[in-house]
Amino acid sequence: MRQGPEIEHLDADLRRSTLVAGGFMGADPRSVADVIDADAGELSRLGVTARELASRMREVTNQAARAQGVWTEVDPEHEAQVDEARGALPCPWRHRGRYFKRITTIRRKGSDDILRWSDLSLHMIDAHGFFEGKGSMFRVEPAALVQMLY
Ligand SMILES: [Zn+2]
Repeated sequence: MRQGPEIEHLDADLRRSTLVAGGFMGADPRSVADVIDADAGELSRLGVTARELASRMREVTNQAARAQGVWTEVDPEHEAQVDEARGALPCPWRHRGRYFKRITTIRRKGSDDILRWSDLSLHMIDAHGFFEGKGSMFRVEPAALVQMLY
């Protein structure tokens, strides 16, 4: 993908971001555009869009949020929990609006197989197709999400 000026400053911002430990890029040496492109390729192989995934993730978050911190069944095979945290973060794309720091954890019942995301990572997947760099705290592999949510 050709990098416009907007995405270049984003690259620097995301790398030095102290909003999340290690920033949103982790130790990933690729550019933000390359990370987004590679994940978009993976998603197209998997036959699902970032928006579709995000919409399923949002359903899980909304369902689990109603249980107020307790594990709750979101479908016959999975349970999820939402940790409410105080505060909110802005999107690095500099949108208006802030995203709660709450974290959703989903688990395949009776296993240690878990995935987690924050409200901000959900938004970045939904609006920007950005799953974060490898090694970032909230990086979730598109394939792992598809496996867990479909
Ligand atoms: Zn945004």
